[in-house]
Amino acid sequence: LHYQPKVNFKTGQTIGVEALLRWPHPERGWVPPDQFISLAERAGLIHPITLWVLTTALKQAQAWRDAGLQIGVAVNVAVRDLQDPTFPDFVLQACRSTAMPPGALTLELTERSLMTDPAKTNAAFQRLSDDGVRLSIDDFGTGYSSFSYLQTLPVDEIKIDKSFVGGLFSDTRSEAIVRSVIDLGRNLSLAVVAEGVENQLIWEGLASLGCHVAQGYHICRPSPAAELVTALKNSAWVTTRNESTNVQEL
Ligand code: C2E
Ligand code: CA
Ligand code: CA
Repeated sequence: LHYQPKVNFKTGQTIGVEALLRWPHPERGWVPPDQFISLAERAGLIHPITLWVLTTALKQAQAWRDAGLQIGVAVNVAVRDLQDPTFPDFVLQACRSTAMPPGALTLELTERSLMTDPAKTNAAFQRLSDDGVRLSIDDFGTGYSSFSYLQTLPVDEIKIDKSFVGGLFSDTRSEAIVRSVIDLGRNLSLAVVAEGVENQLIWEGLASLGCHVAQGYHICRPSPAAELVTALKNSAWVTTRNESTNVQEL
C-alpha cells in the first residue's frame, strides 16, 4: 500500500493521505492498480482487498498518530463493498480497534459506481456518515450521473479528476469545468480536492479559483509509508498538529 498526501491550499499543511494499492509482482515489478482493480472486481475479489486496505491504512494512520503525525487517511471503496450489509460495521469496528476517530477516515467512491446500486449505497453511506466517517465523490465529473445524489447522500468532499485539472491552462473547456466544480462544491459547503496537481502553475491556478485541497506529483508521488514520512519531513508540507478537514476551516 502506498500513500499520497492531500494538502491544504491555504496553509500548505498535509491534512491526510490517500491509500493507493500497488501489486509487487516477482517478474513485472510494481503493477499499477489500473491493471488489476477491474480484474479483481470481475473476479469477486475486490471486497476482501478493500477490507485489507482499510485495516492496513488505519493501522498505519494510528502508527503515524503515535509518532505525532495527526493526519487522516482516505481509502477507495467499490460499489461491491457497500452492497455488503456488514461493511459499515466492519469499518467502524476497524476504527475502534485502531483507536482512530471515524472523522479521520475518508471513503472515496467514484461517481460512476454510485449509480450502480443507489438504494444500498445510500443506506450504507447514511450509516457511516451518522458515525462520523467522511465520504468523498471521486473522479467527479467523469460519470454519467445527475447531481441528485449531492442532494440526497451525506457527501463531505468532491474530487476533481486529474483529466480536468491537467487541462487547466491548455484547454478552455477543462478550465471552465474546474472553475464550475469548485464553485459548486463551495456553494454546497463541500471540501473540494483537486487530483493531478503536477506543477506550481496548476497549484497557483487552483488556489486562485478557491480550491481547498491539492493532491499530485508536484507535492509528492504515492510512496510507501516510511518513504512518505521522510519526504514530508524534508519538504515544506510536513504537519505535526491536528489538521482539520472541516470545510469551514479549509
Ligand atoms: P484514483 O482514486 O483517481 O487515484 C488517483 C490516481 O492519480 C492515482 O493513480 C495516483 O497515483 C495518480 N496521481 C496522483 N497524482 C498525480 C499527478 O500529479 N499526475 C498524474 N498523472 N497522476 C497522479 P494510481 O495509484 O495508479 O491508481 C489508479 C486508480 O486505481 C485509482 O484512481 C483508484 O480508482 C484505483 N485504486 C487504487 N488503489 C485502490 C484501492 O485500494 N481500492 C480500489 N477499489 N481502487 C483503487
Ligand atoms: Ca481515489
Ligand atoms: Ca481520478
